[in-house]
Parts: sequence; C-alpha cells; structure tokens
Amino acid sequence: MTTLPENPYLPEDMSSPMVEVHFELRVGVGTLKAKVDVPAGQTTMTGLLPILQNLETAVIDKVVHEATASGHSISCRAGCGACCRQLVPVSIFEAEALFQWFSDLQEEQREMIEQRFHQALLALRENGILQRLLDEEWSKDEESVTRLAIDYFHARVACPFLQNENCSIHPIRPLSCREYLVTGPPALCDDPSIHDVRGVKFPFTLSRALYRLGQELEHDNRGWIPMVFLLAWGKSGLHPGEHFTGTGQEVLRIFMEHLATMASTDKGGKTSAGLMQAT
Ligand code: SF4
Repeated sequence: MTTLPENPYLPEDMSSPMVEVHFELRVGVGTLKAKVDVPAGQTTMTGLLPILQNLETAVIDKVVHEATASGHSISCRAGCGACCRQLVPVSIFEAEALFQWFSDLQEEQREMIEQRFHQALLALRENGILQRLLDEEWSKDEESVTRLAIDYFHARVACPFLQNENCSIHPIRPLSCREYLVTGPPALCDDPSIHDVRGVKFPFTLSRALYRLGQELEHDNRGWIPMVFLLAWGKSGLHPGEHFTGTGQEVLRIFMEHLATMASTDKGGKTSAGLMQAT
C-alpha cells in the first residue's frame, strides 16, 4: 500500500494570504451555505482542486443526509471495490494534479505504480479494449461511450490504484469516484450493466463542470481521460490548469459559472450509479 501525505494537493507555501469567499448552492430541497478560503494571489484551476474537493465533500454530505432522511442509506463501504473496475473518468485538471503527485513519489513507489498501470493496460489490450480506447471514435456519442463502458467493466480490470479492494489514493481520488454512491444492495454492483444499481441523485456534479472546462481547451474534446491512461497522459507534459489562471476568487468564479451551466443541463437530478457517467 502506498503511504500518502494527508493532503498532497495543498500548496507548499501555506503562508500565502488567503481570502474568504461565501456563496450559496441549491442542493436538493435545501441550500448549502458555503465558505471557502481561496488564495488571494495567483493560482490555477488545478491549484484550486483542494478547495473543490472540500466543496464536493460538503455537497455529498448534504445529498447523503437527504437520501438517508428519505430512507435510502448508503451501502458503499471501505473494502468494497466493485465500482473500481469501471472506466473511471478523470478530469484533465485532476490528471495534472495526480501526475504531479506521482512524479513527487520516491522512485520505488513510482515503479510499483507504473507496474500496476502497465499490467492494467496489458489486460485491456488482451481483450481488445485498449485498441478501442485508442480509437477516438469510441467517444463520438453517448451510446458509444456506454457500450465501451460496459465492455470495459466486463473485462474486470481493476483501477491501478485499487489495492486489497481499497482505494490507495483515497484522499486525492477523482471527483467521479466520490460521486459514485450506491443505496441499493452492494451485490448488484457486480454488474451495473444488467442490474438496477440504485445511486444517490445529485442535483449537479462538480466533476462534469471540470470536464466542461477541459473541453474548452484546444487539445481536448472530452475534458477527461480514462484513469488507466493517467501516466501516459502525464508524460505528455500538458498543464491544462494554467489555461485558467487568476486570483483564487477569479478562478473559483470561472468554475462556479461552469457548474451553474452544468446544473441547468442536469435538471431533474443525476444519479451517480450505474456505470460512471462522463459524457
Ligand atoms: S481512484 Fe480509487 S476509488 Fe477511484 S476507481 Fe481507482 S481505486 Fe477506485
């Protein structure tokens, strides 16, 4: 198991001045009153990820509270990695941060992780999934993405970060993993393509706002990558976060504008279960 620092995304210079931002988000039948501390100086969209993760935690707490109050308790537990065999979408900003985290590890840890990614890619190559992923046609429409996502799940290739059915990067796992919350019997997660996996309904998802931001960059038409491509993508040296720079308040405002756009298109609520949604 890789030992992780408590919050590796935190900026090294903790003495940088921060500024308090207050806002309200409509979550379910209630309102989430949020207060976040953002850098007073310059940052990037990737630099803002710790704040977005904290915001995600607050949103999830509220959504879970409402689900529980209406009799739907969450069945996800530590040690259950059933959903970690899906095609996991990682926004390119999270990919940038995760690759930075990976690059800062000691050589021995990097080699171990590289080996796990290599094994996953080999397994996906054996059943033809890798070739399909490399052909950009697979994401041309929602139906194609769903078809590949089902085949991917049936290949039973675990996320390289899954160890002993636990997430080895839990504090820094992608938002898509955090938003995947199931209320039905865990046994149904064995195959979300045939079972009715009941998921918590989110009024909006922060992950999709990040995908939308990523889609605005010239080099990317999805805004996310499959987790299994993380290391290869990271080695290309891209820094998408730098395309959205400004003070903490300015970058947060850009994100919130995209979140508002996605919230209006997600009208009626979005379930996080089934196969991980990324389109
Ligand atoms: S990052 Fe962690 S939670 Fe997400 S799929 Fe991988 S092992 Fe599972």
